[in-house]
Amino acid sequence: MLVVMKSHATEEQVRAVCQKIEELGYRAHPMPGAQRTAIGVTGNQTALEPGTIDDMAGVQEVIQVTKPYKLVSRDVKEEDTVVRFPGSEATIGGDELAVIAGPCAIETRDQAFAAAERVVHAGARFFRGGAYKPRTSPYTFQGLGEAGLEIMAEIRERFGLIIVTEAIDNESLVLVERYADVIQIGARNMQNFSLLKRAGRSRKPVLLKRGMSATLEEFLMAAEYIMSEGNYNVILCERGVRTFADHTRNTLDLSLVPAVQRLSHLPIIVDPSHGTGKRNKVTPLSRAAVAVGADGLIIEVHPDPDRALSDGNQSLFPDQFDQLMAEVRQIAPVVGRSVWRPLAYPATVTAGSTIR
Ligand code: PEP
Ligand code: MN
Repeated sequence: MLVVMKSHATEEQVRAVCQKIEELGYRAHPMPGAQRTAIGVTGNQTALEPGTIDDMAGVQEVIQVTKPYKLVSRDVKEEDTVVRFPGSEATIGGDELAVIAGPCAIETRDQAFAAAERVVHAGARFFRGGAYKPRTSPYTFQGLGEAGLEIMAEIRERFGLIIVTEAIDNESLVLVERYADVIQIGARNMQNFSLLKRAGRSRKPVLLKRGMSATLEEFLMAAEYIMSEGNYNVILCERGVRTFADHTRNTLDLSLVPAVQRLSHLPIIVDPSHGTGKRNKVTPLSRAAVAVGADGLIIEVHPDPDRALSDGNQSLFPDQFDQLMAEVRQIAPVVGRSVWRPLAYPATVTAGSTIR
């Protein structure tokens, strides 16, 4: 159910409607838009009786939302969601392309700092690095845990980077939300509903990765779980799905980007590192992701990929990341996007030539 308020409805009237919704045992989600405020009504009981809200002051109409996802839908909020970060001009979902880069996993302080220094100089505003790694084998590197989070908090201090890192369960989420700026929920956890609900109660934005075999609807429903708990800062991420193709680790489904943008106001970024699993395919697919209209990229970069403890094959050398950024800088304006340029942008990087 969606309550559409009149364009001149007062804050007082919006508050009164929300209060009424809550009194009736539902949850109210006011979504202010440029023209008017809409209030999403959720609850797992039966639908709200029509007629209870219609006559309240400031209400224009009450609409049944027929789609299974409500709060993620453009029916509830027409304008794109722009995720903002306190004390920073960086955004995800705004005009500027959001670039998140860093190693798959935080291995040592030196490794993480070396990666951070290079990615920030190349123009990334966000730093990624796993402290908790969901690995296929229990015998491979599982991450440094809290020590990894501490290193990333130091990186934020030193370079001004915004920290994105994965929580793999409710326990790690408590620590991740304390140290990081964005909570990543990985592909393997896209339908871990208790984790999604817990992330929905956090005040930090959530980067939600698409499950390896998730349909568009299942992906949006996972985002709905987070939003239904009151956290509206959700960023979607396409990271490839399982197909019969064996020339890449996953098949990067770039058609998901416009499909999501049609249905949802949430930002969507692309992960060509996990999406291809091959270093030589990361830059070409990054170009394509920007061209298709993605709101950002998340890229694995390691100072010494051949010695990486996880995902070395898909991690870029820092020089390759410089090149990727130079290429993305050329494509972004064509689709109306800007790319942040730090003051200390290295003079040695030239846009133009494309590596194949
Ligand atoms: C990661 O970002 O390192 C990761 C594990 O990603 P995904 O959940 O997409 O596999
Ligand atoms: Mn990885």
